[in-house]
Amino acid sequence: MKQATAPRPHTASYYAASVASEPGYPALEGVVSTDVCVVGGGFTGVSTALTLAERGYRVVLLEANRIGWGASGRNGGQLIAGVSGEAKVRRRYGEDIADLLWKMRWLGNDIVHDRVAQYGIDCDLRNGYIEAALKPRQMRGLEAEHRELEARGHPHEFRLLDAAETRATLGTEAYIGSLITMRNGHLHPLKLCLGEARAAHSLGVQIHEGSRVTAIQHGARPRVVTGQGAVEADSVVLAGNAYHALERKHLSGLTFAAGSYIIATEPLPEAVRREINPLDLAVCDTNEIVDYYRLSADGRMLYGGRCNYSGRAPRDIAATIRPRMLKVYPRLQEFRIDYQWGGRIGIVLNRIPALGRINGNVYYVQGYCGHGVNATHIMGEVVADAIAGTMERFDVYERIRHFRIPGGQWFGNQLVALGMLYFRLRDLLP
Ligand SMILES: Cc1cc2nc3c(=O)[nH]c(=O)nc-3n(C[C@H](O)[C@H](O)[C@H](O)COP(=O)(O)OP(=O)(O)OC[C@H]3O[C@@H](n4cnc5c(N)ncnc54)[C@H](O)[C@@H]3O)c2cc1C
Repeated sequence: MKQATAPRPHTASYYAASVASEPGYPALEGVVSTDVCVVGGGFTGVSTALTLAERGYRVVLLEANRIGWGASGRNGGQLIAGVSGEAKVRRRYGEDIADLLWKMRWLGNDIVHDRVAQYGIDCDLRNGYIEAALKPRQMRGLEAEHRELEARGHPHEFRLLDAAETRATLGTEAYIGSLITMRNGHLHPLKLCLGEARAAHSLGVQIHEGSRVTAIQHGARPRVVTGQGAVEADSVVLAGNAYHALERKHLSGLTFAAGSYIIATEPLPEAVRREINPLDLAVCDTNEIVDYYRLSADGRMLYGGRCNYSGRAPRDIAATIRPRMLKVYPRLQEFRIDYQWGGRIGIVLNRIPALGRINGNVYYVQGYCGHGVNATHIMGEVVADAIAGTMERFDVYERIRHFRIPGGQWFGNQLVALGMLYFRLRDLLP
């Protein structure tokens, strides 16, 4: 067997710097037999493994690097309801499945809240999210969202804010109005991912870090091969999202990696925090290519945004993101930037996550289009249901047709970049 590749450490983010060091999990050695083998230790993989373990399945989870090493341990930590492309899914099936989609939309938030309580996961979870409009057209979108929350009797607090109320809530003149939803919120994603992995492990999930999967041999019981071992299972779940290149025959051209980037200031004085975000909300603007930001538990501004589609991180992330932050908050000029980092998000052309099966027993789920903290938890449950034989929600997504771009990653990235140029231009329109 080949030598195992050394696991890569977490990227140098505020998150990695603020988690307690953990002993980690050993690499896979030898051949193991189980019910389900999960490939990838981000939210998709960990959440699926935990759901399956709660239902009594034997699970082995293989992570190439460390748990939470990918987007799940690096993201903005914004826990926002919904699955990317929801409106398109609704149009595809008609109003018949509107109720099902609405229930699914909030499921990820519920799962996260329940797990934090049930397993005692300390991940700085806070309630409250504000979507802020820059243009009248965007405000009309927020008003429609507000109407739907009302019509469906959403049980948690939500309200529309006019320009003056938004100014008082966010300490900036940048926006013309906003919508607050208190069931959404924010959290420390790496702490959540590690906490869910600990919970899964406590229920018997066998976790192996530093165990990159190099091949899958298909059959009635597929064999998942790593450098120093293999797992034989009834079902396999591919959860490597934008970081895996497995099953190229079936999956190449389906999902593309885009970069998203975040900076963290030094901890801000209490008075500044009270001025710019007194309610401690997660914030997104309503552009197609969003700026997203929030305060960390120790009072830093974590400001993120701007995708790139070259697959290469900019040399100086702060040089790109800091001016965007200063446009909204000029008064943060005087504060140091302590951390800057980025990660890959999985983009699907029609913006609907790609769920499916290869040969009936190798499941894949990927391409949350930058909206995955909540959606990964939803899809973890949907895939676990499918493995247990309940297909209703899996079918909704599996039946969506996805366009695969021929010509490999480079060509695909150019097309996605073109699509994003379109969205950027739309953001410039009034
Ligand atoms: C900078 C940034 C900010 C974001 N902000 C937000 C936000 O605020 N809110 C939100 O909802 N979403 C956000 N997202 C998106 C969100 O983080 C992702 O949608 C989500 O984390 C995807 O989780 P995942 O488990 O599918 O993939 P990942 O977390 O990327 O995990 C994939 C894992 O698979 C492993 N892997 C890959 N190949 C193999 C292999 N061959 N063998 C074994 N393991 C393998 C990788 O090492 C990795 O750990 C952001 C993303 C980024 C990058």
